[in-house]
Amino acid sequence: MNYVKNYECTICGEIYEPSNELMTCPKCHEKGILEINYDYEAMRLNVNFEYFKHNTDYSMMRYKPLMSINSHPLNILKVGWTPLYESKHIKSILGLTKLYLKDEGVNPTASLKDRASLVACIKAIEENYDTICCSSTGNAASSLAGNAAKLGLKSVIFVPKRAPIGKLSQLVVYGANVIQIDGDYKDTFKASKEVINKYKFYNRNAAINPHLVEGKKTVALEIAEQLKFGDLDYVFVSVGDGCTVASVYKGYFDLFSLKLINRIPKIIGVQAEGCKPFVDAFINRTEVGESAEDTIADSIAVGIPRNPVKGLRAITKSNGFYMSVTDEEIISAIELLGKKEGIFAEPAGAAALAGLVKAVNSELIDKQSKVAVIITGNGLKDVKSIESKVEEVSKISSIDLINKMNEDLKYNTNANDLFEMIKTNEVKEYE
Ligand SMILES: *Cc1c(COP(=O)(O)O)cnc(C)c1O
Ligand SMILES: [Zn+2]
Repeated sequence: MNYVKNYECTICGEIYEPSNELMTCPKCHEKGILEINYDYEAMRLNVNFEYFKHNTDYSMMRYKPLMSINSHPLNILKVGWTPLYESKHIKSILGLTKLYLKDEGVNPTASLKDRASLVACIKAIEENYDTICCSSTGNAASSLAGNAAKLGLKSVIFVPKRAPIGKLSQLVVYGANVIQIDGDYKDTFKASKEVINKYKFYNRNAAINPHLVEGKKTVALEIAEQLKFGDLDYVFVSVGDGCTVASVYKGYFDLFSLKLINRIPKIIGVQAEGCKPFVDAFINRTEVGESAEDTIADSIAVGIPRNPVKGLRAITKSNGFYMSVTDEEIISAIELLGKKEGIFAEPAGAAALAGLVKAVNSELIDKQSKVAVIITGNGLKDVKSIESKVEEVSKISSIDLINKMNEDLKYNTNANDLFEMIKTNEVKEYE
């Protein structure tokens, strides 16, 4: 039992009876992404402040009545209820009133995508599929493989050529059937579509499957609940296909419709300079077009976004804006997050923070604001992106170190001076 009222096409507005078979609007085909609408009046009788007070399920499944799933399998990974840290250091560097960091990297497969993949797996089981398939730049795939493994489903996964080794390793370990396409994400998506149609696998492709947004929106539900449903001014989200940003809006829309929050925060979509079709569409007031995929932030390098309508709507309806950041700004944000907050993010995970830094410095947002930033994925998935920083680590043999230390003792230096000397002096490299 769930509270789904109907499905609505985001292009032509046609309303459909809820149906498990229906993925996109039959009239508009693949572009006709569906929105799942709920009966909020009925939902409110069950989902209210009392409901949350007495709920002891500290995972995303505590939001089951707000989703489009019917069942709650017991044998699942613990997805969600990730920490929302209150930032002290970055907050004061930026001069903000409040800053919260939602660390999605601690999910079971280390990204926010687990929220969508768990829902996809539950839906696949509800509909009696034994194999589930997707194409992904990495995280959708690794999360699908992990969640499917736990539930005993087979997974078939299409990845583009540039998928980082960390994410590929996850697929192999989780036992997925991996097919690496010798091309970019666009080619990969096309190939997966053909295979899904031919072999009748369950389709976990983001956007196409309307239930995924319903899973991902739990990140917004959590942020709101962790802030005791108090007001928030901005949420910064990194954007590739546009599903995550759409989900964040949907989560807040649900809570607003249930009268659990007073207002929906402004949502800021952050893209990489080398791949910013949403930013271009937002600025030029055009439809979302095609772009190159030239950025280290592989998880948001999506040249043809699959959820253009919902992705734009989330920003306009919440009165937010789209912006882009360079790869250098992303790397700086990774370092800032690591050094000041102890969180290691992958490039796409830190892109939202890079956006916040830029937005504050260029006065796009008021410093007197309460801001949340979603850190969407863990840095261990893609250590290559910070390889150049690792090369800067000081290297010295133990003998040289001890000699240097004894020599420096004469000058009464402290440890910091010593480290500085090792870094800058003629250091003998060890093998
Ligand atoms: C998928 C992903 C995003 C962006 O989500 P979209 O739905 O593609 O916009 C951002 N960060 C990480 C780490 C991701 O895996
Ligand atoms: Zn339609």
